[in-house]
Amino acid sequence: KISIKNFSVFFGEKQVLFDINLDIPENKVTAIIGPSGCGKSTLLRSINRMNDFFENMRIQGEIIFENQNIYGNGVDPVKLRQRIGMVFQKPNPFPKSIFENVAYGLKIQGWRDKKAIAQRVEESLKAAALWDEVKDRLHGSALLLSGGQQQRLCIARAIAVEPEVLLMDEPASALDPIATARIEELIKTLKDQYTIVLVTHNMQEAARTSDYTAFLLMGKLVEFGPTHQIFTNPQKKETEDYLTGRF
Ligand code: ATP
Ligand code: MG
Repeated sequence: KISIKNFSVFFGEKQVLFDINLDIPENKVTAIIGPSGCGKSTLLRSINRMNDFFENMRIQGEIIFENQNIYGNGVDPVKLRQRIGMVFQKPNPFPKSIFENVAYGLKIQGWRDKKAIAQRVEESLKAAALWDEVKDRLHGSALLLSGGQQQRLCIARAIAVEPEVLLMDEPASALDPIATARIEELIKTLKDQYTIVLVTHNMQEAARTSDYTAFLLMGKLVEFGPTHQIFTNPQKKETEDYLTGRF
C-alpha cells in the first residue's frame, strides 16, 4: 500500500535520507530502528508530509500511497494526514476535555450528528483500551490523565477519523514500564485493522511488537525483512553489529 521509491531528504545543504526504497506491508507492524540521528523520525514524517513544515526541506523520489505519489500535484497534505495519522513521542492532548480531543478530527471532517459523534468517540476510546478508565469523566480535562492514559487518548484521537495508516514515533519512550506494556499490547491489537509504522530505538520493543523491521544507519536503509529474521539472522554486518551492541 505504501511504497517508498528512491526517496531522499535534504535539510538545506545537508542530506539526511539517501535513496530509500521500502515497501511497507499492509496491516502489519513495521518497526524502524537505528541509532540516534540516523533519520528514523525524518523517514516517518515523510510518509504523511509532516516534514513539509520545515521550510528548508527538499525531497527527491516518490512515496506512493494507493497508486498516487503523495508528493505529486494535487495532493492535499491535510487530507493525507487524516488517512495517515500520527502519534508522537510525547503525549500531546489538546487542553480540552477527553471527549473533545477524540471528537476534534470528526468536527473538522464536518460531522454534525451529536449521537454519531458520541458513538464514534466511544468506539475509538474502546479501541484505544481507554474507555473503561474514562467513561465517567469524558467531559473532564484531558490534561489530568496520566501520561500513559494521555498517550492512549492520542491514539484514540488518531484513529477516530479512521485512518488507514498509523505512524508512531517512539510512542512509549516517555512512559513507565507498565504504561509501555499497555501501549505495546494495544499496538498488537490494532495491527489487524491498520498498517502501523513504529519508530523505536528500543530493540526489545521492536522485537516484541513488530512483524517487519527496517534498520537505518546514517540515512541509509541497511536491511529490511521479517523481524524474526532481522533479529536472529541479519544479512548485513552493520545490522549484526548494531543488534549485538558493537556500536
Ligand atoms: P532520534 O533517535 O534521536 O530521534 P532519528 O533517527 O529520529 O534520531 P532524525 O530526527 O530523523 O533522527 O534526524 C536525522 C538527521 O536530520 C539528524 O542529523 C538531525 O539533526 C537532522 N534534522 C532533522 N530535522 C531537521 C531539520 N528540520 N533541519 C535540519 N536538520 C534536521
Ligand atoms: Mg527521532
